[in-house]
Amino acid sequence: MEETCLFCRIVAGSIPARLAHEDDETLAFHDIDPRAPVHVLIVPRRHIAAVDRLGEPDAALMGKLMLVARHLARELGVADSGYRLVINNGADAGQSVDHIHMHLLGGRPLKWPPG
Ligand code: AMP
Ligand code: ZN
Repeated sequence: MEETCLFCRIVAGSIPARLAHEDDETLAFHDIDPRAPVHVLIVPRRHIAAVDRLGEPDAALMGKLMLVARHLARELGVADSGYRLVINNGADAGQSVDHIHMHLLGGRPLKWPPG
């Protein structure tokens, strides 16, 4: 837990969020500024700053984030219409919270490539 990390604080329950899923390793909550009808963030409970900080022992955890995304896509009704999973890393990608998070976006056609 990093005291100054927004998503660590959401994981700890000290900042409220609208939860979509939780298990022993992950938490998912609705984005506060949704860019699509479905916009959920899936995070590991453990603080990892960015994709660039991942190591070999994190492989299963990152796989789990994707399986949670798959489960939520079905639950939130976008599995058949389609959805996008995004992880921004670093400044050029626009990463604004330094706790790894996977965006699940869906519910409308999404342009490609992203901006
Ligand atoms: P990124 O730009 O990839 O780092 O994504 C950070 C995301 O976190 C943005 O989509 C924000 O809207 C979202 N966000 C920031 N603060 C909160 C919060 N308190 N609760 C939920 N989502 C948040
Ligand atoms: Zn954190």
